[in-house]
Amino acid sequence: MERQDVEQPRATRRVRIGSLEVGGGAPVAVQSMCATKTRDIDATVEQVHQLARAGAAIVRIAVDNEKEVEALKEIRALTDGVTLSVDLQENYRVAATVAPYVDKIRYNPGHLHHIERSKTIADKVGWLADVAGDHDCAIRIGVNCGSVAPEFLERYPGDQLEAIVQSALYHCELMERVGFDRFVVSLKDSDPEKVVAANTRFAEVRPDVPLHLGVTEAGMPPEGIIKSRLAFEKLLARGIGDTLRVSLTLPNERKHEEVEVGHKIIQDVEAGRFISVPDFGKGLNIISCPSCSRVENESFVELAQQVRELAAYAATHRITIAVMGCRVNGPGETDDADLGLWCGPSTVNLKKKDVKVGTYGYAEVLPRLRAELDRLIAERAA
Ligand code: SF4
Repeated sequence: MERQDVEQPRATRRVRIGSLEVGGGAPVAVQSMCATKTRDIDATVEQVHQLARAGAAIVRIAVDNEKEVEALKEIRALTDGVTLSVDLQENYRVAATVAPYVDKIRYNPGHLHHIERSKTIADKVGWLADVAGDHDCAIRIGVNCGSVAPEFLERYPGDQLEAIVQSALYHCELMERVGFDRFVVSLKDSDPEKVVAANTRFAEVRPDVPLHLGVTEAGMPPEGIIKSRLAFEKLLARGIGDTLRVSLTLPNERKHEEVEVGHKIIQDVEAGRFISVPDFGKGLNIISCPSCSRVENESFVELAQQVRELAAYAATHRITIAVMGCRVNGPGETDDADLGLWCGPSTVNLKKKDVKVGTYGYAEVLPRLRAELDRLIAERAA
């Protein structure tokens, strides 16, 4: 560990999320997300408590359809006192039915174009702000390098970072146009350096907007912890960041470790303690999602661990392998990896960059991955 000076927190405005306040000099809040099936009410309630006991100030749950909304009603009734957030994907209209049961709604600007294509993005955001306002909810505008809104990718060709920053700024403006200011923003990527750059750029333009920090698909410990630390330390030390989540690929019984790691990073930064890993990121990079309710097969975490063991022989090669748990984010977020795997219910899709290699059973995919990895290493050596 190295010792460094830490700047004062920047003066973001305060945003109330249930009984919690973030921004405006409030302590940095640590969040986490349930990886249980939302429809499994007992398991999800247990995990909400597991995360809250570990110190999660906000617990997020994924809700994609009406059955999950019904489950959420019961989960809310059994988790009194916990600040709950809901994660919306393509079907942003679910917000209207979940808002009465949560304290915050997270939407991704890159997913709003999927349904009701005749409506403008401004109308959709205005509607979301109205729903949140009517039900005393805050909003997180959650942009992600893996799913950037198409119009921003077109406007900033070759500059994904500027595309997500400008997309976030535009959505802030849309919220404010309709008089809604109870929102926070997140700008995420699986590369810690991009997370630092995107958040720094955004904070320069909108120093008033609270930021939630995260490195997506950071992967398994210890690498996932190191990636998160590399980004959070730099940002928190500059006074950037009002809440954070450490996204780790962990089995459900260890999910609370995300929260413990988050608190440890904050404590270390406040005490001026910083890690030093000079060669980190120069060899094999395995990224994997933290899993959530949408994960298609419970074997996902085991698969990610098997991929890491299988690929250990390639540790010195600058190769990225992505392992993703579902079809929602799997296809898009494996496009940039040298080799990508995304899970279906009984098969795994194997890709080389954005080209599909094939679909294999869970037992078959590992030898196929090994063959592709061998081929890639041989191609580069040639
Ligand atoms: S890739 Fe799918 S399973 Fe993994 S965290 Fe994202 S939405 Fe959840």
